[in-house]
Amino acid sequence: MKVTNWGNYPVIDAVVHEPRTTDDVRRIVAEERELIPRGLGRCYGDSSLNHTILSTRHLDHFIAFDSSTGLLTCEAGVSFADIVEAMVPRGWFLPVTPGTKFVTVGGAVASDVHGKNHHVAGSLSSHIASLKLLLASGEVRTVTPEGEPELFWATCGGMGLTGVILEAAIRMKRIETAYIRQRIVKNRNIDEAVEAFERNAEWTYSVAWIDCLAKGEHLGRSALILGEHATQAEVGFRYRDPLSAERPLSVAVPFMFPGFALNTLTVKAFNALRYATYRNGDSFVEYEPFFYPLDGIRSWNRIYGRRGFTQYQFVVPRNGAAALLRRILSRIAESGEGSFLAVLKLFGRQEGMLSFPMEGYTLALDFAMTPEALRLFSELDTLVTENGGRLYLTKDVRMNPETFERGYAKAARFKEVKRSVDPHGKFLSLQSRRVGIL
Ligand SMILES: Cc1cc2nc3c(=O)[nH]c(=O)nc-3n(C[C@H](O)[C@H](O)[C@H](O)COP(=O)(O)OP(=O)(O)OC[C@H]3O[C@@H](n4cnc5c(N)ncnc54)[C@H](O)[C@@H]3O)c2cc1C
Repeated sequence: MKVTNWGNYPVIDAVVHEPRTTDDVRRIVAEERELIPRGLGRCYGDSSLNHTILSTRHLDHFIAFDSSTGLLTCEAGVSFADIVEAMVPRGWFLPVTPGTKFVTVGGAVASDVHGKNHHVAGSLSSHIASLKLLLASGEVRTVTPEGEPELFWATCGGMGLTGVILEAAIRMKRIETAYIRQRIVKNRNIDEAVEAFERNAEWTYSVAWIDCLAKGEHLGRSALILGEHATQAEVGFRYRDPLSAERPLSVAVPFMFPGFALNTLTVKAFNALRYATYRNGDSFVEYEPFFYPLDGIRSWNRIYGRRGFTQYQFVVPRNGAAALLRRILSRIAESGEGSFLAVLKLFGRQEGMLSFPMEGYTLALDFAMTPEALRLFSELDTLVTENGGRLYLTKDVRMNPETFERGYAKAARFKEVKRSVDPHGKFLSLQSRRVGIL
């Protein structure tokens, strides 16, 4: 069948297995020479693509929840959407969540996803008590950060290359309400934005939306959005049941847009309008639009049309970040390659051999897949890696082995651990081959 991920590029022909039990998984892993696990395909490029795919679609059972500790154990194919739906009314939230809830637990662990709270909470792996991992040999191992640190830190962020994650135990976070106390701080340029992040670093959640086509003194103008889980005392008088938020209406993009629909002018107009609609100030918002603003528009990835799109997401060290971000944003604004979406976040430190976060700032920008964008990315790769940064594997579809090796200092250690549990290279993706993890 034809398979593609969120960026709609590339589209490949693949055999897709859909096991229902651990024994099925073991049999498929034994029979296939090479394969890659796949969750909901929300990575942008080819991380979960290969000509043989093991889908975790049917491995979607909740296993246990301990309401005294908040430890949730579930199968790898359970989605974050299922988790928030079941847990928010009970007063628990995900300790870390990406900008979409349509990801699986297995996919989120394998990408070691980060949220808007990385600077205070780290990425998902910091909240995983244990994993059940099926290795190339068929052995199922329970992997914990204390018991088997090398395999644990290779698997979290390991992009499915150490084996099939069957289950995970996640330490959930207590919440009193389904609402977020939100503050918006508008910034006139990138220097102000970075200063605002630093000044507000005690907020649990922070993210800035950037108008990446503004130039000159407005380069990097943005709205910094801060948030805290609201307490009952804060919202109790407003809502009858503070743990049940209204479900936002969901609309869908009905068809692939033609390629010309998104061009520099439309993107520029959209960005300018969006900047103008933000207002400084405080409010209470439901958790869904705060954490998952784009999930309300199903299949929004179709606006880029059949050519597909990608996200260029990089992180650069905190020291000197404002100056480097200014250089990178100037280059993007000059190129005229419109990014519909540009998001800036602050990261803290992170373990994990291939985990993306490092202490610094991460900027994520969406681009249509065009030859001009690809040329721009090559220039940006040099700027990012020469300054100690790296690119996010789960968003990538074109990084070369040099950029990968320069960005990921622990890549050699990762490859050693991989060889020890997968000596014949059974778990491989199109991406792993491209960046040199064989
Ligand atoms: C709109 C949008 C917003 C996003 N925002 C963020 C964000 O804020 N922060 C962030 O960190 N990411 C973000 N992402 C990326 C997303 O969180 C990751 O790509 C995530 O891994 C996708 O999960 P999935 O279940 O769709 O996995 P897939 O995309 O199918 O696979 C991703 C990786 O996980 C591996 N994998 C999947 N299941 C298993 C398993 N059971 N065992 C072993 N390996 C497995 C695959 O081999 C692949 O390498 C966003 C993506 C979208 C589309």
